[in-house]
Amino acid sequence: MAECNETLRELYQFLDGELTDADRHHIQQHLDDCSPCLAAFDFEAELRLVVRNRCVDTVPDALRDRIARAIEEAG
Ligand SMILES: [Zn+2]
Repeated sequence: MAECNETLRELYQFLDGELTDADRHHIQQHLDDCSPCLAAFDFEAELRLVVRNRCVDTVPDALRDRIARAIEEAG
C-alpha cells in the first residue's frame, strides 16, 4: 500500500514537528484507518521519548494514552 510507505516516511518529520497542518492531518487520517501504521507511530514516538530520557526500563502506560490524546488533539 503506497499510502503506508508515504505515511511511514513522513512519520519521522511528524515526530520532529516539521510537517504542516495539512500534512499532519493527512497522516492523522491514515493512522485512524491503519492500525499497522498506528503501531509503528506509537513505537517510534515511545522510542524517541525513551532515548531522550534515557530511562529504558520505565515506559509508563500513561505514555501510550498521552500519545493517543496528542494524536486526537492534533486532528
Ligand atoms: Zn498504513
